[in-house]
Amino acid sequence: MPELPEVETIANGVHDRIHGRTIRSVWTSNKPQTFKTPPDQIAEALTGSRVDRVHRVGKTIVVDLSRRRKTMQFLIHLGMTGRLLVSTPDTPIPPHTHAILTLSGGSGGIKELRFVDARRFGRLSITETAYEGPGSEPLTISLEDFIVLFHHRKTPIKAALLNQSLLHGVGNIYADESLFRAGIRPRRQVGRLTRAELGRLRTALVEVIRHAIELGGSSVSDYVDADGVRGFFQLEHRVYLRTGEPCLVCGTPIQRIVIGGRGTHFCSRCQK
Ligand SMILES: [Zn+2]
Repeated sequence: MPELPEVETIANGVHDRIHGRTIRSVWTSNKPQTFKTPPDQIAEALTGSRVDRVHRVGKTIVVDLSRRRKTMQFLIHLGMTGRLLVSTPDTPIPPHTHAILTLSGGSGGIKELRFVDARRFGRLSITETAYEGPGSEPLTISLEDFIVLFHHRKTPIKAALLNQSLLHGVGNIYADESLFRAGIRPRRQVGRLTRAELGRLRTALVEVIRHAIELGGSSVSDYVDADGVRGFFQLEHRVYLRTGEPCLVCGTPIQRIVIGGRGTHFCSRCQK
């Protein structure tokens, strides 16, 4: 499943390729699971609209649209296997394509934005109010807000990091990696973490996510233009999926435990 850095990279890549263009026509597969807004309403809302901006909110890709002074947003959640491809019309249509937006304007002639999703956990919808997502944005939240967010909670910090109604977009890899970098054990109760620890955690989380976005940026063309997710998880994992391997800092074997149903990796010596 794409995590926040991948979604950010995809959103930026799609933005670069289609912003400023106008949607001339829309085709949909009409598969019921894919469309949170009925497909005919999606087609009606998109046709004739201009793509002003493509960006990320949490793990959702948000396409800002305008048409005759009216603004709305097209929301794309990639789910497990969803992909967005920017193609020329003569590129063969891959299997499991559920939506095709034909876009005019811009250099390079007509382009198509295609949504492809084999397992159909992805979701497409339209909203007329600005989508804000369920939680706070991990890259821009202030230290004070970050501390307030976790105040008095009794859950393990690992579970709190994955709680999308607190911070949106943080997945398993980035939770484990940021806790390692902050030197905090994943089972620690959130409410007992000190200000200094929460400060270190926020810094580590931002660093890990930003680093992954930078790495993802170099391979976005593979993702957007071709077929495949290759080269995306380039982040150098220090603990994630390194069970039994020596800690890169102290040599202690990395341990794996389960918290809230999720495999969790940590160093028992570096993390207190
Ligand atoms: Zn260690």
